[in-house]
Amino acid sequence: MSNLPVEPEFEQAYKELASTLENSTLFQKFPEYRKALAVVSVPERIIQFRVVWEDDQHQVQVNRGFRVQFNSALGPYKGGLRFHPTVNLSILKFLGFEQIFKNALTGLSMGGGKGGSDFDPKGKSDNEIRRFCVSFMTELCKHIGADTDVPAGDIGVTGREVGFLFGQYRKIRNQWEGVLTGKGGSWGGSLIRPEATGYGVVYYVEHMIQHATAGKESFAGKRVAISGSGNVAQYAALKVIELGGSVVSLSDSQGSLIANGDASFTPEEIDLIAALKVDRKQISEIATSAAFSAKFKYLPGARPWVHVGQVDVALPSATQNEVSGEEAEALIAAGCKFIAEGSNMGCTQAAIDVFEAHREANQGAAAIWYAPGKAANAGGVAVSGLEMAQNSARINWTAEEVDARLKDIMKACFQNGVDTAKEFATPTEGYFPSLVTGSNIAGFTKVAAAMKDQGDWW
Ligand code: GLU
Repeated sequence: MSNLPVEPEFEQAYKELASTLENSTLFQKFPEYRKALAVVSVPERIIQFRVVWEDDQHQVQVNRGFRVQFNSALGPYKGGLRFHPTVNLSILKFLGFEQIFKNALTGLSMGGGKGGSDFDPKGKSDNEIRRFCVSFMTELCKHIGADTDVPAGDIGVTGREVGFLFGQYRKIRNQWEGVLTGKGGSWGGSLIRPEATGYGVVYYVEHMIQHATAGKESFAGKRVAISGSGNVAQYAALKVIELGGSVVSLSDSQGSLIANGDASFTPEEIDLIAALKVDRKQISEIATSAAFSAKFKYLPGARPWVHVGQVDVALPSATQNEVSGEEAEALIAAGCKFIAEGSNMGCTQAAIDVFEAHREANQGAAAIWYAPGKAANAGGVAVSGLEMAQNSARINWTAEEVDARLKDIMKACFQNGVDTAKEFATPTEGYFPSLVTGSNIAGFTKVAAAMKDQGDWW
């Protein structure tokens, strides 16, 4: 019996990575990398702390705060903060573990980390959120810094929370430095950071479509199912529409909105949903309005996948484990050819197995092609890396410059996955290589080699 705590989400993320390494030729070629896998899967440091804050009724409230400083071989720990009632060490270890390899795939100097709290921002006033953030940072500020650990946003942590957190860090440490990313544009934030994760997913999938169709097809005319309605889903949807595709679904934890017939969400409708989310409200509040109910079905308690009809692309962009094995089968039956995770670990292992088996059985154009979050959603943290670079140089790049760099990074991330899979997994020409195997090996070997050079294993 192992005396390790039960950490289902972390074990899932670990097994997903380890199984792709095992099933490739990596360990045959480099057996010593098994040792690296054992070392890299233990966090360098975990900080846990108490967060006491005062609610609007002047009552004492208490939550748990965490920061998992997972790996710093490639640079300062880097990764978001999640404020959600489901947050625990298993969730943050899975997110931190994914973040190590995702950050490596960006090609920028960033280690991996993740943090957050079981604090639930839903139903809280702006003042309660500010007081919580101040209390959270009062402890966290002892453990982070621009060259040590640079948090950012994740679920429940937007530009507003980053602002409150940054202000408290600045006051306590008497230091203005790029200690957080996702900052406001007028005080150190990078242009395109809010858009970066969603845009990056779409740029990545554009390369998948071009590769799979020998450059003949693009997003134009494609039907795209998206889940979620936060930052990632919103900007993925806007970019799909800009490129000529239709967005047929969005969702939140309470239900899904599905467009009737050939209808697509418009940018104006996405803006309305974004405004709701700023106020921490649910899609259900808008779904019954005359304009929305005429054009969309609202399905309470449902995820979109089995309800979207024929689709070409699916972009899970809500949270972990939001596509089951059965939903994966339904997406394939609906004609879906490309699936890429905007969320971290959006697909269950059962769903990945369904997609990967279909890809192997239907080599070439008939196959569904799956891209894991650590490659497809790397655009967000990549632009965080660019924000760190701008802060260090005390300059600001234009939106065009940042967008161009984001496009280059997503292209390199895709190509790295393809090339690495060809080297270690699928040598056959004309076969879609496994992007999950290729991306895992590319991220892992980069980190493992840096750790070896630095004496972390031998
Ligand atoms: N939370 C985002 C992610 O999962 C962004 C992290 C960051 O920008 O540091 O990659």
